[in-house]
Amino acid sequence: MRRKLAAGNWKMNGLAASVDEITALAGMVSDTTVEVLICPPATLVHRASSAADGTPVMIGGQDCHIAESGAHTGDVSAEMLVDAGAAYVIVGHSERRADHGETDAMVAAKADAAERAGLGAIICVGETEAQRDAGDTLAIVETQLSNSVPEGVSVETTVIAYEPVWAIGTGRTPTLEQIAEVHDFLRATLAARFGEDAANGMRLLYGGSVKPSNAAEIFAVSNVDGALVGGASLKAADFGAIVEALNEAD
Ligand code: PEP
Repeated sequence: MRRKLAAGNWKMNGLAASVDEITALAGMVSDTTVEVLICPPATLVHRASSAADGTPVMIGGQDCHIAESGAHTGDVSAEMLVDAGAAYVIVGHSERRADHGETDAMVAAKADAAERAGLGAIICVGETEAQRDAGDTLAIVETQLSNSVPEGVSVETTVIAYEPVWAIGTGRTPTLEQIAEVHDFLRATLAARFGEDAANGMRLLYGGSVKPSNAAEIFAVSNVDGALVGGASLKAADFGAIVEALNEAD
């Protein structure tokens, strides 16, 4: 049985006072059976971890370097995230692929680094609008999945997030049929590579303009095990409502 996961990505938002949202969220989700994760900017990981200590809310990073330490000015390693209290890290978000030229191979190396450090990795895949319009969605996510998920990953700690680039931060979402098509395809593709049991153990998150008003219908889609949420994760009330919708989904 896959445990559902609601993951929030704060992106480059949040100052020290924002940690109060985590405290508020913790108060809202104390009875939930789903995993709840907030990935604040690196500057807040330690502070957020302290605030979330002893609550169901876990804290994660938004990216990590492939190396454990060294001459990489401005970067943060997976080991450093663990040291600061993180349990997960997002790798291969489309904003990092676009802004930092991250390739599938780099994303796979980051997922490896996360596993080595004991962090769960949320590996993101998803097509652009032009790729969807060209009918290439499944081919694109298949390639990203094949090349961004390393060999020998642990089923329990590796999570795949399907995030259509055109749905991120736009208020637009795919139809439920389109989400189902991609998630079913991801599950089948993982099964072909890692075997049925491993594939059935991996969580598949949907990401892209999830909000309290559309969460329940998205969580009812087959092979959707939770969500990766950007904008709506910044406020405890919104994210708490999304967690609640996930908790109530079958
Ligand atoms: C994201 O950045 O991963 C995301 C899904 O953003 P939003 O929910 O704001 O579309």
